[in-house]
Amino acid sequence: MTNVVTDQPGARSVLITGGNRGIGLAIAKSFLANGDKVAVTYRSETELPEGILGVQADVTDAASIDAAFKEVEAAHGPVEVLVPNAGITKDTLLMRMTEDDFTSVLDANLTGAFRVIQRATKGMMKLRKGRIVMISSVSGIYGAPGQVNYSASKAGMIGIARSITRELGARGITANVIMPGVVLTDMFNEVSDDVKKKYMEDIPAARFAEPSEIANVVRWLASDEASYISGAVIPVDGGASMGH
Ligand code: NDP
Repeated sequence: MTNVVTDQPGARSVLITGGNRGIGLAIAKSFLANGDKVAVTYRSETELPEGILGVQADVTDAASIDAAFKEVEAAHGPVEVLVPNAGITKDTLLMRMTEDDFTSVLDANLTGAFRVIQRATKGMMKLRKGRIVMISSVSGIYGAPGQVNYSASKAGMIGIARSITRELGARGITANVIMPGVVLTDMFNEVSDDVKKKYMEDIPAARFAEPSEIANVVRWLASDEASYISGAVIPVDGGASMGH
């Protein structure tokens, strides 16, 4: 995997989980363009753009997370900006949802975020600064048929961000939650045409999002301009979830 450490003063060590494709990759490119030192986790070998460090990790496995952090810390220094983005869906109606459908989604999306956040905050506390921007989903506040597991995992991120804000806010660490609406990635391609049509009916903007539209907000929340925002839940959904 490519590793180009920028020499720019103020370049931060940024880590995005599941940054080898989709929204995560768009976020990685955005931080790279900002002059930061960017690393992403991937599970299976992938081609990454020049300048992005790829480290192998499965967020359901604490040992692989620790190994990935050690690699990133050796190359770029302690992680100052963490974006827990890795996520999966196993959509099915409640009556058909097995316990494994539920717990495996919670394990990857919510416990996975907990694992990387806990590992990252060790370094952030020493630095006395850090930015955590979790990629949740509008499904976490709006709900969606067939997504009892996924919605629960994404809603849980709000509790994590707000508790971290209260525990670590005085140490210069912020934790926020972004709730994307429907974004044009592989995950969205798994959805049936009928469901896509239904989603569209709920979106005042009358279009789905590009991954870069999520990435821009993540980069801004991690910037100095957003230094006094923590524990916030920010929908980026073309207006779909207003009032929820
Ligand atoms: P993709 O399916 O395109 O990418 C998912 C990413 O997560 C991949 O990089 C994948 O790695 C990684 N990943 C999944 N499970 C694990 C795991 N156990 N350990 C490590 N990495 C893992 O999804 P999107 O880019 O669309 O989604 C990114 C995030 O945004 C997710 O959390 C998703 O829930 C959220 N989101 C997406 C929306 C959408 O409409 N697309 C809407 C709202 C939120 P690998 O390539 O190895 O499989």
